[in-house]
Amino acid sequence: MKIDLSGRVVLITGSSRGIGRAAALLFAEHGADLALNYRENTQAAESLLVELKKYPVRARIYRADVADEHAVGRMIEHIVTDFGRLDVLVNNAGIWKEAAIVTMTSPELDEMIDVNLKSIFYCCRAAVPHLAQRGGSIINIASTAGQRGEAFHSHYAATKGAIISLTKSLAPELVGDKIRVNCVAPGWVNTDMSAEELALPDAQRHLRLIPLGRPASPDEIAGAIVFLASDWATFITGEILNVNGGAVLCG
Ligand code: NAD
Repeated sequence: MKIDLSGRVVLITGSSRGIGRAAALLFAEHGADLALNYRENTQAAESLLVELKKYPVRARIYRADVADEHAVGRMIEHIVTDFGRLDVLVNNAGIWKEAAIVTMTSPELDEMIDVNLKSIFYCCRAAVPHLAQRGGSIINIASTAGQRGEAFHSHYAATKGAIISLTKSLAPELVGDKIRVNCVAPGWVNTDMSAEELALPDAQRHLRLIPLGRPASPDEIAGAIVFLASDWATFITGEILNVNGGAVLCG
């Protein structure tokens, strides 16, 4: 069976670059129509639309801050009006910032929780009634940081750990709506988010902890996302799919 997502509408948050962008291109390659969320870089989002023109799919961009529950609600209503349906939600948008616990400010903590975690509650809350119309799929992007912790990024790691338990909670909760809920937990990935850290002279200390010896490409994460959305994964829900080069071996 080839993966065929034609006719299905996929919303990807934070899709103008990195993993979100790679996922958008791979979903399009497999026939899905795309609702592409971005926060502020309209030029990058429009350039993705241009790149998507090589595929016979519908794609539109939606500017919204996913940390703003009202903006999320409006965006999802617009998507359903434009496409007539919603089948897959990929909660990908996120930020990664450094802060030691003793100097972390409350605004820094709030921003991390709002963008990385509350946004997923907002998106799921608004999307579930639409996903439930025909059955659908939610894919949350966590991180190895949520499994092993991350010094000087405790607020980031805590949001990612919470995404894992959120996934495990929503999977049984939404089974009656025929919505599968899964999570992809990447390790280091070569994107703008990690570029500065992986360019540091001591970046080898990160790479030494990866048995496969390198960071992932965004395409390698996108492959896991598209798989979980596909009909190859119809019996998978509540799963944490580790795509980390063997760095953290847990479920
Ligand atoms: P990235 O920084 O390239 O992309 C993140 C995207 O999210 C950006 O387009 C950004 O504009 C968007 N975004 C941020 N805040 C937003 C908001 N409030 N509203 C809407 N969009 C917003 O990083 P990436 O590596 O592609 O990260 C994608 C996901 O993968 C994130 O959730 C990240 O935590 C996770 N992840 C990344 C790595 C890594 O090493 N790069 C590792 C593990 C997990």
